[in-house]
Amino acid sequence: MADLKVDLTAPNGKKFALPTGLFIGNEFVKSASGAKITSINPTNEEEICSVEAASPEDIDKAVAVARAALNHESWRDISATERGRLLYKLADLAEQEREVLATIETWDNGKPFGDATGDLQEVIDVLRYYAGYADKIHGQTIPTTSQKFAYTLKQPIGVCAQIIPWNYPLAMAAWKLGPALACGNTVVLKPAEQTPLSILYFADLIRKAGFPPGVVNITNGYGKDAGQALASHADVDKVAFTGSTATGKHIMKTASSNMKNITLETGGKSPLLVFEDADIDQAAKWAHAGIMSNMGQICTATSRVLVQASVYDQFVEAFVAVVRTTSKVGDPFAEDTFQGPQVTKTQYQRVLSYVESGKAEGATLATGGKPSPIGGKGYFIEPTVFTNVKPGMRIYREEVFGPFVAIAVFGDEAEAVAMANDTTYGLGAAVFSRDVERAHRVAGRIDAGMVWINSSNDSDFRVPFGGVKQSGIGRELGEAGLAAYSQIKAVHVNLGQKL
Ligand code: NAD
Repeated sequence: MADLKVDLTAPNGKKFALPTGLFIGNEFVKSASGAKITSINPTNEEEICSVEAASPEDIDKAVAVARAALNHESWRDISATERGRLLYKLADLAEQEREVLATIETWDNGKPFGDATGDLQEVIDVLRYYAGYADKIHGQTIPTTSQKFAYTLKQPIGVCAQIIPWNYPLAMAAWKLGPALACGNTVVLKPAEQTPLSILYFADLIRKAGFPPGVVNITNGYGKDAGQALASHADVDKVAFTGSTATGKHIMKTASSNMKNITLETGGKSPLLVFEDADIDQAAKWAHAGIMSNMGQICTATSRVLVQASVYDQFVEAFVAVVRTTSKVGDPFAEDTFQGPQVTKTQYQRVLSYVESGKAEGATLATGGKPSPIGGKGYFIEPTVFTNVKPGMRIYREEVFGPFVAIAVFGDEAEAVAMANDTTYGLGAAVFSRDVERAHRVAGRIDAGMVWINSSNDSDFRVPFGGVKQSGIGRELGEAGLAAYSQIKAVHVNLGQKL
């Protein structure tokens, strides 16, 4: 059967053919139900194209194919070095196709083209990082008695479901695919229905790289049916999820049916603390990058800025100036654009509803807060800053996931730490101080999976990423990311002990 494809010309003039099927067993196929997802360009609200949407029946098929691939000699018996080579090849192909992939991400998601290009570098780096690990994943020998030889094997977990969000479609896929494949698992990956396109172009590179059929399957589909079918599937061994805390909790329950291994990376309301001894101009610039990048659609976005009273006015003035001069909102393909549209109308409306909430609860709208369409179209919102925010307000407590920051005041270090920890989340945090002792002390006391000292959100693929409290379970990236995709088997060898 010929692959399902559509010829497209992107707004930047780039032409390419995009597969539109479900990618199962290295082929692009139609969905069993005939269901489709229509992707919308958030910049002008026009349709880009439609792709196949998986039904539970398609998920059954993809899981069966992934199970067969796990047990097939072409993958089960491949040398670890060869597994690494396949990942290197995939990284090389992604590098060659970087411009098309970044173009699709900008078109489908609305993120500025420069940022999409940066995301592609992340994809390439992550794949190469885990490619290098493939043949360095091994067990231990453990001294016991002279009559016993004991050793451990690190083995794949099995068939892994990977459920991906829309804010970094390809990067989040790479974070999960890299370690899963390095460890020898097989995968059924469900992208977010809001951004189904770039991963289909990437899927074609997976088969070109030479991965055996069924090792990676990509099933676009809606959360409530394809996602649910995958997370609850009795023949799936693990589910790795990035997205909202509410869906994460639901997946955790669903995964309990056959006690799946789980990794969850969910929401956040990450604090950024500015102490009076900080470099205020640097703090203002990093605070801007930490909340306004990627249209504020970052799980680790430092969306709650807490400033010591003695430097509060100085910081707010510097920060608002950076926002006004740096956050140029516009066409994501234009070179000078810092901020494109929100990903969907739903997200756009959600962010604007928080503007109303902030005003109603008595916070001060220092700048922004309004739609900013281009020619009457697009899900653009002015970068929004609320000051005089109090801890009881919704905009202080809830994840907005937009170019939206809440600034509050603290008196001393103890209050700063207490305010930082007064949240159900625990993903990231940032501390600005020139006092080395204080910076490290506070970093140690904040309940978060990651703390940046004198920066914000400069994550790195070599360093573990993940949250505590209701921000998640487990770690991605770095060596820690491998632990999520392998299990330890203990082998006891009797060397002569007689019963
Ligand atoms: P979501 O959590 O519902 O979706 C994330 C992924 O989960 C998507 O692939 C979706 O199809 C899938 N999914 C949804 N319901 C499912 C189910 N029952 N079973 C299995 N999979 C399911 O997030 P959303 O609705 O797109 O966004 C809502 C909010 O989530 C945002 O405003 C933001 O606060 C948060 N969010 C966080 C991240 C993050 O990186 N942590 C990413 C996206 C969204």
